[in-house]
Amino acid sequence: MKNIENMLSKRESTIITEDNFVAKFPKFFENIGSEIKNVDGSVSFENGEVKVTLDSQDFEEYLDSCEDGEVLKGVITDSDQSFDPRDYVRLNKFIIEDGSNSLILDYKNEYRTVIYKKRDDSAPSRSEAFHDIDLVRLHRQPSSPDGILVLLHEIGHLEDPELSEGVQRQSTLKFEAIIAGGYTKEIKEENDAITLKSERKAWAYALNKIRFIIRKLGIPEESVKDFIHGYTLGSYCKTMHH
Ligand SMILES: [Zn+2]
Repeated sequence: MKNIENMLSKRESTIITEDNFVAKFPKFFENIGSEIKNVDGSVSFENGEVKVTLDSQDFEEYLDSCEDGEVLKGVITDSDQSFDPRDYVRLNKFIIEDGSNSLILDYKNEYRTVIYKKRDDSAPSRSEAFHDIDLVRLHRQPSSPDGILVLLHEIGHLEDPELSEGVQRQSTLKFEAIIAGGYTKEIKEENDAITLKSERKAWAYALNKIRFIIRKLGIPEESVKDFIHGYTLGSYCKTMHH
C-alpha cells in the first residue's frame, strides 16, 4: 500500500491519459473472452485465465420494489438532472474466478448498489460513488477489464473509513470559499489534498484486488499504475459531496 502511494505521489508530472493507456496496452482492454449465457440467466466472460460472471436486474424495477427507492432516485437526480433509471441495470451478482475456478471476488449487493447503463453508447462520462446512499454509478460495463478496475475503485471509495470525514471537511471548505468570495490558495490546496488522498486510497484498494489479473495477463504493474495515476489526475471519477 505504502509503495503504491509513494509511487503515485512521485509521478505528479507524468500524466498518462486513459487513451494513451488503451493504445499502449490493448491486451488489457480486450473483452474478457466471449459471452456465455448461463442456465440461471447470468452471463459469463471467460478466457481461460479469468472468468467473470455477472447478472443484473432492471434498475427501475428494483427502485419500485425497495422502500427507499425514491430516496435513491432523488440523490442521483440531484447530481445529474438527466438521470433516467430506465436506462440502467443494477448489478446483482459479480464473481471473478481465476482459470482454476478459485474465487477471487464475490460481490455482495445486500447493502450496496452498483448501477450501470444498459448500453454503453450513452454512458455518463464519469463514474460516481454516492457515499450517503452506498451506491456506485459506473460509466463502463463491468464485464471489461477497465470496467472491473473502475468498479473496484469506486467500491474502494465506499470502503474508505475516512471518506465521510473528508467529504464533510470539503463541504465546510466549500462554504468557507463562498464566504471568502472564491477558492483561496489555502482552501484550494486543502481541498485538493483531500481529493488526491482519497483517490490514491481507492486505487490502492482496486489494484490490490486486481493484481492477479494483471499478473495473469502479463501486464507490467507499472503500466497499470501509470493508468491509475492518469485517471486520478484527470479526475474522471467523482465522489459525491453532499
Ligand atoms: Zn475516485
